[in-house]
Amino acid sequence: FPVDRIRNFCIVAHIDHGKSTLADRLLEMTGAIAKTEKNKQVLDKLQVERERGITVKAQTASLFYHHKGQQYLLNLIDTPGHVDFSYEVSRSLSACQGVLLIVDANQGIQAQTVANFYLAFEAQLAIIPVINKIDLKNADPDRVESQIEKVLDIPKEECIRISAKLGMNVEKVLQAVVERIPPPTGSIDEPFKALVFDSNFDHYRGVVANIAVVGGRVNKGDKIVSAHLGKTYEVNELGLLRPDEHPTQKLFAGQVGYMVAGMKDVKEAQIGDTLHLQNQPVEALPGFKPAKAMVFAGMYPVDQSEYPALRSAMERLTLNDSSVTVQKDSSLALGAGWRLGFLGLLHMEVFNQRLEQEYNASVIITAPTVPYKAVLSSARLIKEHGSEEITIVNPAHFPDRSVVAEYLEPMVLGTILAPDAYTGKIMSLCLNRRAVQKNMVYIDDQRVMMKYLFPLNEIVVDFYDLLKSLSSGYASFDYENAGYQAADLIKMDILLNGQPVEELTTIIHRYFMRWLKRLIGRLLLIEYYIQVSLNKAAAIKPYRKNVLAKCYGGDITRKMKLLKKQAEGKKKMRRVGNVDVPKDAFISVLKRK
Ligand code: GDP
Ligand code: MG
Repeated sequence: FPVDRIRNFCIVAHIDHGKSTLADRLLEMTGAIAKTEKNKQVLDKLQVERERGITVKAQTASLFYHHKGQQYLLNLIDTPGHVDFSYEVSRSLSACQGVLLIVDANQGIQAQTVANFYLAFEAQLAIIPVINKIDLKNADPDRVESQIEKVLDIPKEECIRISAKLGMNVEKVLQAVVERIPPPTGSIDEPFKALVFDSNFDHYRGVVANIAVVGGRVNKGDKIVSAHLGKTYEVNELGLLRPDEHPTQKLFAGQVGYMVAGMKDVKEAQIGDTLHLQNQPVEALPGFKPAKAMVFAGMYPVDQSEYPALRSAMERLTLNDSSVTVQKDSSLALGAGWRLGFLGLLHMEVFNQRLEQEYNASVIITAPTVPYKAVLSSARLIKEHGSEEITIVNPAHFPDRSVVAEYLEPMVLGTILAPDAYTGKIMSLCLNRRAVQKNMVYIDDQRVMMKYLFPLNEIVVDFYDLLKSLSSGYASFDYENAGYQAADLIKMDILLNGQPVEELTTIIHRYFMRWLKRLIGRLLLIEYYIQVSLNKAAAIKPYRKNVLAKCYGGDITRKMKLLKKQAEGKKKMRRVGNVDVPKDAFISVLKRK
């Protein structure tokens, strides 16, 4: 296929603005799938995606499209919209030359619209703004066009107004893809060079890698080398994704497809790796910045006899989701397990749900924590760790104040977009979370965009849910990493029946201790005997109280309902300190509603 008739593009948008629906229409119109009612969000293949109505895993589809008497090959990559999965988005972008940036005609620009725009802009991709859902009664495409011009600096005239649901003007989108997105630059005469931008684990064939061929060509039976590990493989299977696998004999420069090459070990298919032919080395592609885990939690089998099965499930799932970091860990109460790093709390919940649904594994997840740092003052410890600064991903290993010069906590720069009627409530929520306002601008006469510097710890657990509920769902939120800042941190142990439970230990800021004292003073129900200990000196008197039930009360989001419903079937308890603790209690204690 001539390279100049190939287009590689992504669809990016804020969650629910219609990416998957537009992808369905594009697939139907190009004949990749049949037009039936059943074909709703066909690219959302995972059970968790169908249940939650969100896209977690980017998927790829190759489409054939006729335009002005020529046939074009369009490679479409669907991407997830949630903040936790922006890693998937930037990965998808690296295989593309352009994006369709979808904006809901009623909701207008949201936090992730801005974030996705900048990802594409920084990657120097062609950006086609698409205003979707113009069929809605409250659609206001004129207003959305002005927002796009004001906030993203894209001329109004470039916007395409569509209804993905009704298929209205979708043809114009396909035309724009051909006319406005440049073809990939590689040539088939160069040595073979491909980027591994995703991979899946197949129980029968091993690793199935998604590759973008940047230059040259590859044939079935070729011997290829992965630049990262320098290992040689034979290509057993090649093909296009339409979106199901269509085997082919070759893949050429500019094409996007899948490859099976006898990679059996989960660590062999490094995402971001470059593939080349044996004896034809090439300069490796830039690859990806490794995903930075921002939320850490312990994960343990409910029963130790399930450890080997859980280990193999985890290995397979982490291949499919390389943004999870894994370290072996063990605890007195829970036995052998792992300490996992996730991009955010939703990411962690989705990982947990996928383990249960796709691998039938039941796990205990301990209270999540962010990666804190400590600048050590003890010469002995500095020598032992080989550096002055250490990162702490397990609260149980938090060093005592007596050996520490300074504690540091990770910060993020958050963007909030909301109608100005909610500005007051949002500001007090942020203040409550130790956030500092950096900026505030009107994006039109009714909506504001605010920037805050947050301690990450203050937003990982329940900030997003609270923001949504206080703004009746109208506020949107996204964040990026913003380094570390000194903080007055305290290790908080929780004692059940007088026994400290390492897995419930968390790191809190000193101000949170005051809040906690107030909270505990207010509790009414009596069930468990819980004692919270703050650096011993500030121990709080024990209360008898059903803390766990309280944490679930009140405002429960759809997400939590789903998790709860699912948990009911397999309510497993863990005996800790002579008390049976439900396996989801470890997270619930941190929700501050
Ligand atoms: P995604 O999260 O961006 O992938 O969004 P989805 O494609 O899953 O769509 C979110 C919701 O918006 C679904 O309920 C769709 O049926 C609905 N939707 C998508 N496009 C349109 C449209 O053009 N008009 C209307 N009225 N609804 C739409
Ligand atoms: Mg989707």
